Amino acid sequence: MKVLVINCGSSSLKYQLINMETEESLAQGLVERIGIEGSILTQKVPGRDKYIIEQPMVDHKDAIKLVLGALVDGNHGVISSMDEISAVGHRVVHGGEKYSESVVIDDAVMESLEECVKLAPLHNPANIIGINACKSLMPNTPMVAVFDTAFHQTMPKTAYMYPLPYELYTKYGIRKYGFHGTSHKYVSAECAKLMGKDIKDVKIITCHLGNGASLAAIKDGHCVDTSMGFTPLEGIAMGTRCGNIDPAIVTFLMNEGKMTAKEVDNLMNKQSGVLGLSGVSSDFRDIEDAAKEGNERAILALNVYNYRVREMIGAYAAAMGGVDAVVFTAGLGENAIETRAEICKGLEFLGIEIDDAKNNVRGKSTEVSKDGAKVKVFVIPTNEELVIARDTKELTSK
Ligand code: AMP
Repeated sequence: MKVLVINCGSSSLKYQLINMETEESLAQGLVERIGIEGSILTQKVPGRDKYIIEQPMVDHKDAIKLVLGALVDGNHGVISSMDEISAVGHRVVHGGEKYSESVVIDDAVMESLEECVKLAPLHNPANIIGINACKSLMPNTPMVAVFDTAFHQTMPKTAYMYPLPYELYTKYGIRKYGFHGTSHKYVSAECAKLMGKDIKDVKIITCHLGNGASLAAIKDGHCVDTSMGFTPLEGIAMGTRCGNIDPAIVTFLMNEGKMTAKEVDNLMNKQSGVLGLSGVSSDFRDIEDAAKEGNERAILALNVYNYRVREMIGAYAAAMGGVDAVVFTAGLGENAIETRAEICKGLEFLGIEIDDAKNNVRGKSTEVSKDGAKVKVFVIPTNEELVIARDTKELTSK
């Protein structure tokens, strides 16, 4: 069985074709600048040269047509016909409170996805466009929606409610939802496997540290808290997002700085985080280089970032009444050796101790804690596409 995984953004689309018998990726690709001049598709197949198509794509339907063409292409493709694709799994950012699990897409599901647009106005519309484009090109292929929010739906009400008037929850659905759920789910399951334990018997803190970043506290295999909230802005500091700040700063900037709501929103999402603090870049590689040259603001940005992740690990150990394992994943978590070491410094009292030699690793699934340390620390590359493909297989094989 082969499953096509689609992750649609507003002007981009990532895809991967996975052989579910072996869970091997047969091909993966990225379409960029959909609807913009300079549209380009790049497809990678293991062991082969990149296949690049540069041609105008006016919308997502055009893009998906090209994706299917690239997959069946006589010279560069990996399948001989579209019929070999048994099902399509779509990443959908927000499933609201309705979806705590992935779901086979039908008309009723499409209606619910529309209802969730107000909760994720920047992401869900693109996901819906992608699903509709696929449905029109592959009308007989079953499709599944896999939600970023679903894994976090097990959070207790004490963790997901904000101390705001209760009516805001009933009227607008204002509560913590959490994101990166497929990643937290995948790496926590891998962590339990590496520990040789049943996930129900371990308390795990997963740190998904990429451009966007979130932590999750996972007890008995269920998420009990996570750092992103009503939107992906809450939580630790990120590449360009501020994470937790005093909410009064928003009204202060509107009153004193005469900024509009849109301007403050843009400032908090696009101009803050380590970019805003350092003034250098949102990419940690650039900030680390600047810090090594003595750039004070770059050093400050790294210190603030590490402090906030460390603080959150402490909070989640408290939320679970202990911790057995910490997992680092995503671009930074998998690759930034010093960042992992710095985050863990000061957490020895919890039993978290990094082994510098073992920690000298990038992008590989491995344990990096000291021998005999009470808490195991792992680096585990995430694989969100595989989680989407597994759920798609499970639901469409029923
Ligand atoms: P992601 O969103 O998971 O793709 O992560 C992207 C981020 O990971 C980049 O913006 C970098 O900040 C970070 N990153 C990737 N590789 C490295 C590296 N070798 N060292 C430090 N940070 C890295």
